[in-house]
Amino acid sequence: MTTKVHGVNDFIQEISTMPGGEKINLCIQCGTCSASCPNANKMDYTPRELIAMARAGMREEVLSSNSMWLCLSCYMCTVRCPRGIVPTYIMHALEHLAMRHHIASPRTRTPTLYKVFSDTVYAAGHIPRFGCMTRFYLQVNPFRALKNIPVALSLFKHGRMPIKPTRLKPEALKQFRAILDTAETLEAHHEIL
Ligand code: SF4
Ligand code: SF4
Repeated sequence: MTTKVHGVNDFIQEISTMPGGEKINLCIQCGTCSASCPNANKMDYTPRELIAMARAGMREEVLSSNSMWLCLSCYMCTVRCPRGIVPTYIMHALEHLAMRHHIASPRTRTPTLYKVFSDTVYAAGHIPRFGCMTRFYLQVNPFRALKNIPVALSLFKHGRMPIKPTRLKPEALKQFRAILDTAETLEAHHEIL
């Protein structure tokens, strides 16, 4: 269900029409979400600040921040919010809006990881862990990959990282991609989040 919000800026209206963003105007700025958030100290703006800025129409500042990308989806903010708001979903909505409007934050690599993940899943029909993380590190920091070699070897040793790729049957892959293509088309028409 979406709620039309009147008398507010376009940005807050955009958020309030997204799943989870409906109650953003109920925020009383108590700060419980920020105090509960395990990653707030790494964010450009805490969850409470982000909501206040969104309500003030600070679209560029909000969407170019790293805050929503550092959300762990732990739901601590959500279970404690006295107004029944779901800050976790607001974080997800802001991630989505930043992607939709091609606004990037230089202070996070999470969007790159999401992109590599989704491209890999689309191409292979599953998550080839070795290939996915290799691609990610090649894009963001190849030297960092060297540090993770011991972890990769340990996973390999315990059979948790198969080198040999699993392949879907061509028909199954075709059907899987058709589902993803449909989801992308619906999203482009703003019919789903
Ligand atoms: S806990 Fe809820 S009401 Fe309090 S600042 Fe966070 S979102 Fe707003
Ligand atoms: S769900 Fe996200 S914003 Fe909420 S407390 Fe956890 S990390 Fe922080």
